[in-house]
Amino acid sequence: MQPTIPFVDLKTQYKALKSDIDARIQKVLDHGAYINGPEVAELEQKLAAHTGSKHALACASGTDALLIPLMALGIGPGDEVITTAFSFIATAETIVLSGAKPVYVDIEKDTFNLDVSKIEAAITPRTKAIMPVSLYGQMPDMDALNAIAKKHNLAVIEDAAQSYGARYKDRKSGHASLVGGTSFFPAKPLGCYGDGGAIFTDDEKLLKVMKEIREHGSESRYHHTRLGINGRLDTIQCAILLSKLGRYDWEVEQRNRIAERYNKAFAAVNKPDFQIPVVKENRLSVWAQYTLAVGDRAGFQKKLTEAGVPTSIHYPRIMPDQPWYKEHAGTCAGPVTTARWAADHVISLPMYPDMDNGTQDRVIDAVLKALA
Ligand SMILES: *Cc1c(COP(=O)(O)O)cnc(C)c1O
Repeated sequence: MQPTIPFVDLKTQYKALKSDIDARIQKVLDHGAYINGPEVAELEQKLAAHTGSKHALACASGTDALLIPLMALGIGPGDEVITTAFSFIATAETIVLSGAKPVYVDIEKDTFNLDVSKIEAAITPRTKAIMPVSLYGQMPDMDALNAIAKKHNLAVIEDAAQSYGARYKDRKSGHASLVGGTSFFPAKPLGCYGDGGAIFTDDEKLLKVMKEIREHGSESRYHHTRLGINGRLDTIQCAILLSKLGRYDWEVEQRNRIAERYNKAFAAVNKPDFQIPVVKENRLSVWAQYTLAVGDRAGFQKKLTEAGVPTSIHYPRIMPDQPWYKEHAGTCAGPVTTARWAADHVISLPMYPDMDNGTQDRVIDAVLKALA
């Protein structure tokens, strides 16, 4: 039996960047400004420039990158936020933490993103915002979504946790509406060596409020004018991200090359419920995950495991069906049949920028054999 390949390989990436990352970390250790050090502002400038956003705010996690905008917009008890039924739990969690109620809509079968055509029917007098998620690295139909938001005077907070660097037409993920938050969790497309995140906006007023919330709601030191959190990103994590950002565009190209190879190899498979990922026109995915839909998922997963190819399921249960949420928070605006279908059939394959051709071939062979 061949050894198991990694699902995500961060060690090879570190080896490639080791001297630069080590030097940047050493510099932080030497200057000693572990909180709010100079690397924080430097990273924020680089992220803003790379995203095309006027401002970027580094923060402690992707979760905080969603919670801070919700708090800054004054969204809270009595309010509703429309989102997808099919995402990582932090999407719904931050809405609930703000005090508002998540209202779930179904997804598109081909992209797994929220079905924008279902949003208007979910709007009530209590609706304050829409939180779209760019699942697996691809942005949803932002033009249509922004038009609905404008018509009904709703804020749009993009959950760009899986899609830093993705593009919809000429707008980068996190910067395609009022405000967006991304995650630097290690396994996300752009990851640090711990938890981290960033918020993007062009809106100066919102920026000021979000900065205060990130720092315990303080307008100046020990003067707390609003409710806040400790939402800062450590200087060391910013130093690591500055290094990783240097080759990030290349990494996105690599991910796209690998996805293209996978898609080509699996294009001819014709089985019930089988589906290869679809990237819509005018969009660039950053392939946070390469995710198939398969009929007999358990059987498929077992065969891949035996072949030394690890897989992962993002996500086995839709958010409204999670035990706590089912009991305490949120409602579905209509049937979420496609989201439930996805939860039962999706499976993600190994995918990372440093994956060599031989490893890609092993994944391809194992998938084709498992489906034969
Ligand atoms: C990872 C993730 C988050 C939360 O990010 P953290 O950095 O882990 O807090 C939020 N939304 C989605 C869709 C995610 O995948």
